[in-house]
Amino acid sequence: MPPMSDYESLLARLAELGHLGHAAALLGWDQQCYMPHGGALARANAMGAMGKLLHERFTDDETGRLLSNAEAEGAEEGSDQALTLRAVRRDYDKSVKLPTALVSSLARETALAHEIWVKARQENSFAQFAPTLEKLLGLSRDVADHLGHGGCRYDALLDQYEPGMTTAQVATVFAEVRDGLLPLMEIIREGEPVDNSCLKRGFDDKTQLQFAEYIAKKLGFDFERGRQDMAVHPFCQGLHRTDVRITTRVETHWLPGALMGTIHEAGHGMYEQGFDPKDDDTPLSGAASLAFHESQSRLWENIIGRSRTFWNVFYPGLQHHFPGVLADVDVHQFYRAINHVEPSLVRVEADEVTYCLHIFLRFELEQELVAGTLAVKDIPEAWSAKMEQYLGITPPSDALGCLQDVHWSGAMFGYFPTYALGTMLSAQLFEKALASDSTIEPGLVRGDYAPLLGWLRTNVHQPGRRYLPGELTERICGEPLSAKPLIRYLHSKYREIYVAEHRDRKRIL
Ligand code: ZN
Repeated sequence: MPPMSDYESLLARLAELGHLGHAAALLGWDQQCYMPHGGALARANAMGAMGKLLHERFTDDETGRLLSNAEAEGAEEGSDQALTLRAVRRDYDKSVKLPTALVSSLARETALAHEIWVKARQENSFAQFAPTLEKLLGLSRDVADHLGHGGCRYDALLDQYEPGMTTAQVATVFAEVRDGLLPLMEIIREGEPVDNSCLKRGFDDKTQLQFAEYIAKKLGFDFERGRQDMAVHPFCQGLHRTDVRITTRVETHWLPGALMGTIHEAGHGMYEQGFDPKDDDTPLSGAASLAFHESQSRLWENIIGRSRTFWNVFYPGLQHHFPGVLADVDVHQFYRAINHVEPSLVRVEADEVTYCLHIFLRFELEQELVAGTLAVKDIPEAWSAKMEQYLGITPPSDALGCLQDVHWSGAMFGYFPTYALGTMLSAQLFEKALASDSTIEPGLVRGDYAPLLGWLRTNVHQPGRRYLPGELTERICGEPLSAKPLIRYLHSKYREIYVAEHRDRKRIL
């Protein structure tokens, strides 16, 4: 056998790191799903040690030497080898800027912070969480300074989740979304009210989970290569293309919680399951960015899962699963109920129209927190003021306000914008999918999701990490990320739901 080239040695080294990363991710998944509270400190130490080991091995001189040599060996432009080297170079140059001590202390502190956040949220006490948040913000500022930036620390943090995107660019596209949403919210406020009380009747918890998993399977989530468990804050953790963990929570008197939440996480999961098998255990197997990840979850949850065609297919089955509970509600009423728009307190349960407003709030607060112009102790007040400004409501408690999301306990500053960017991208990708494959729409009508999933596999999932998110958007859509498809989609859908003149009843039924 000929000796391995430096490129092959590099791949072998990175594959091994991938296996270790798999093990580390499993510790995190278990922490949120099954670990007893008493295990928190020991788990934090274990995760800190894994974070340190992974960082040290990835950034050590041998990785750098193999990478430089492999680059010097040369690779055909645009080939997988060239794209792999580009992706690794990007990761490596970023990672070597972060001291191991900082990486390890972040991993440990965030593991501890998770438990503190869970308790503070349960006890509705921001004061319990504030010192931890202060510490994590300090570490995040350190991270930003080590990564480097041109004066805006938030740019460096954002780039970790959405490579190539700047704070100023995000602010520009967010303003476009906001300008498109405000007139629509006005139309909705003055429109025909929608009654969604049917969603708050009693739905047996176990049956909710069974139905949600049945739907996830129908859409294409592969339970041979994935499973669903319960978590305080639902998430998806891909350990490998062949082992993807999704999570949910269930509330007896709120049907969309588990159902739409499961579709959302299954959307993330199908992305993870859809990476190209030939990229297994290589740096190309992974998501292009978090916005791309979120585009998949929100496409399935909203554009599909809250569509009329979807409920035309599944509503009889839903009624059947909960005998008698929805007997007096027809599919038309149910479709309107599941698309009820109302400013609300909790981001993950927000409707499609007001969802992005929750993100704008967090984006603005995070910039101030990172810049130091907003003190941690003033967060609850600032949160309430922005809720009032964007949504016209005030949270009655911290648990329903600034403590609702898990992200800050994970020091994930710069993550939130990707939710709204992904929402925009979901509409843009869906428009493109329908325009480029005529079998998708008839498939949706008969409840066959294979054509849509197939298109997403080819165009979105299988490219993996070959391209930066901006490049991938251009390759797929022929244009950069745009707010227009989302605004077009929301206006057309919600005018029909809320304004009688826009509705042709026959078409709906
Ligand atoms: Zn998501």
